[in-house]
Amino acid sequence: MCGIVAYTGMREAYPIIIKGLERLEYRGYDSAGIALQNGDLHVYKKKGKVADLKESLKNVNLEGNVGIGHTRWATHGEPNDRNAHPHYSANQNLVIIHNGIIENYSAIKQDLESKGYAFTSDTDSEVLVTFIEDIQKNTQTPLEEAVRLALQRVVGAYAIVVMSRDTPHMLVAARKGSPLVIGVGKNKDEYFLASDATPIVEYTNEVIYLDDLEIAIIKNNQLVIQHLDSTIKTPYIQTLTLALEAIEKGGFEHFMLKEIYEQPKSVADALRGRISSLEGRLHLGGMLEYINRLVTADRIMILGCGTSWHAGLVGEYLFEELARVPVEVEYASEFRYRNPIIRENDVVICISQSGETADTLAAIELAKQKGAVIFGICNVVGSSIARATHAGAYIHAGPEIGVASTKAFTGQLAILTMTALLVAYRKGTINESDYRRILAELETIPQKIEQCLKLNAETEKIASVFKNAHNFLYLGRGYNFPVALEGALKLKEISYIHAEGYPAAEMKHGPIALIDEEMPVVFIATKDSSYEKIISNIQEVKARKGRVIAIVTEGDTEIKKMADFTIEIPHTIEPLSPMLAVIPLQLLSYHIAIMRGCDVDRPRNLAKSVTVE
Ligand code: GLU
Repeated sequence: MCGIVAYTGMREAYPIIIKGLERLEYRGYDSAGIALQNGDLHVYKKKGKVADLKESLKNVNLEGNVGIGHTRWATHGEPNDRNAHPHYSANQNLVIIHNGIIENYSAIKQDLESKGYAFTSDTDSEVLVTFIEDIQKNTQTPLEEAVRLALQRVVGAYAIVVMSRDTPHMLVAARKGSPLVIGVGKNKDEYFLASDATPIVEYTNEVIYLDDLEIAIIKNNQLVIQHLDSTIKTPYIQTLTLALEAIEKGGFEHFMLKEIYEQPKSVADALRGRISSLEGRLHLGGMLEYINRLVTADRIMILGCGTSWHAGLVGEYLFEELARVPVEVEYASEFRYRNPIIRENDVVICISQSGETADTLAAIELAKQKGAVIFGICNVVGSSIARATHAGAYIHAGPEIGVASTKAFTGQLAILTMTALLVAYRKGTINESDYRRILAELETIPQKIEQCLKLNAETEKIASVFKNAHNFLYLGRGYNFPVALEGALKLKEISYIHAEGYPAAEMKHGPIALIDEEMPVVFIATKDSSYEKIISNIQEVKARKGRVIAIVTEGDTEIKKMADFTIEIPHTIEPLSPMLAVIPLQLLSYHIAIMRGCDVDRPRNLAKSVTVE
């Protein structure tokens, strides 16, 4: 994962880089470091968060107009000062920041060791920079050429920026599989490089998204982009629409809470301009060209990881019920290493908030090789997945910075609902009145989410009762089974309480053995087709002295009598209920995590977008 930032221009590089690292910290926070060209090449790095690095540099002269910075999510080597980036090459001529994994680093390392090179860290990144140094030495080529030659022999994923002691006014950057954006200063005389646009947006809105296998060479503030085969590319400059306030906390204590509260707006943005129940209109522009492939599909495969996989599971219910097409939902990480059977009329839908999830990207490549048409559902505009898919729709949720995904989930559900409905309508598996009824109900969802947010204080009270629990069980049926999984995941991620999600009826086949007076069980028990069944499941838990927290539909009286706590959410139709039921579960996990003193925006061991395997 990791966040990388670099700057070259006439401004002081340090303040830009350090602020950029703070913005990218959601990508990793095992260590942070910077390197500056300041008469000589200086590296400062430290285990821990960006704030720790900043603190340690209080009395250091940090002048310089060229520099690079990194916030790490460790893959190779434990999080410590030694393994922190930037890494020097063995002879300290070069310095690198790297996001990704060099898969053949071990063979390269052995080779370099046999030539007498020594390494000070356990990372693959240090091997890469020394490899570049060795090539430069042997071939007497300029830095950019040595980088190019090295990358041609590298297997794996990377976004890198390299600086050299000998050419202080130069940055060489490259990417394959990990994102890299270049911000172009107003007069084209300064450049900002970063893993995403958030560190760039306050300086310029002109950006270039570097493509896979491209190298950017910035020398004396002149930019040249080359392909790895050394052909020169004409940079395609895009204008960013990202607003600065979208990446700030806006008065909330945490990004996660801000993002939970943004959901009435983010879901409205996902729907905006796309539906009108009055006109019976449903328009998904980015899908149009390939929509017939979905309409005639014999089978849909939905791929994702984590929360996106949970959204995919809701998608399975939606497509099967509304569009009557068989659906399989797969973990992208499993799909890519099987030899999946994809037939001519199969269609693949890939879901990823960041659009950079390495496993999902690899699954897309595999599905493409097998001839599948691929749709993408992403949040980050211009991301690798958005570009790698044939068609798709953005969820338009705005930047999601909290590591635990919240508004992306509801946005993904909004897109999946619209897509399933569109396919159903075109296929004729839904009649006009049901179609319009679902559209009309979809239009009310943002306002109903707003109502769910009013449950915050109530949820906080429940959190205070259960904050010391060691385990939680989340149970739901039908459309709300994936919501149970999502509720459990949220709690695990940010409060470190062990939690499991299960289909409520599955409980009796195993998890029921866990239930005693210590075990909180969260039921999603809204008034839908499995309401009666779920009441029986609640009884089964109560009979074993489990403590029940039930998410119920407004006005429910029956469950109130048996549950220890109930949270009432507005009524909606069954296919849309996940978008409401998940809100109190997000709030519950947030409050429990806060009460346990956890850093909700930077949960341990995690990072936001998993751009490594
Ligand atoms: N492989 C590098 C390291 O462990 C970079 C990790 C990453 O990008 O997540 O330091």
